Amino acid sequence: MKEHVRVLISEEEVDRRIAILGEQISREYSGKQIHLICVLKGGVFFMCELAKHITVPLTMDFMSVSSYGDATSSSGRVRIVKDLDHTIEGKDVLIVEDIVDSGNTLHYLADMLGSRKPASLRICTLLDKPSRREAEVEVQYSGFEIPDAFVVGYGLDYKQLYRNLPYIGVVEFEEE
Ligand code: 5GP
Repeated sequence: MKEHVRVLISEEEVDRRIAILGEQISREYSGKQIHLICVLKGGVFFMCELAKHITVPLTMDFMSVSSYGDATSSSGRVRIVKDLDHTIEGKDVLIVEDIVDSGNTLHYLADMLGSRKPASLRICTLLDKPSRREAEVEVQYSGFEIPDAFVVGYGLDYKQLYRNLPYIGVVEFEEE
């Protein structure tokens, strides 16, 4: 089957929304320093673009997790593939994610990172699929709520492809 990507959120809309999120975060963290944590690999494009719009001092770290679910759904059991390089104790931590789907990954991550005694812990996601939620997650900053569809672009992949698309698209399959 051949696949085709239909634009769901254009490059201009994504860029505009990220700039607004950056301004909001800068206001709300005024006088503080933010420690951004990027969840690899999907969160990378979003975190870099968001960081450019944050005006308070910030540091960054990266972690990589793998879910025990299948390709399109997660099970709630999460394995840390790469842990953070730096301690988060006493820091104002902002987790930056590509998408919250079932919520299982972030539920686990927020619990795990919360136990490492950050001064504060918040979540910023580019995309949110609230209709798919299984685990409770408190998301303070969300770019777009989207319907239940498998999306790619802006860091999100299908079989490791399409991460570099500057927009959010839906993968559609056609008979050859
Ligand atoms: P969760 O179900 O735990 O909230 O989502 C875990 C991960 O599944 C996300 O960080 C993302 O990597 C992946 N995921 C969920 N929905 C989609 C989607 O629509 N497209 C892509 N490419 N990945 C998704």
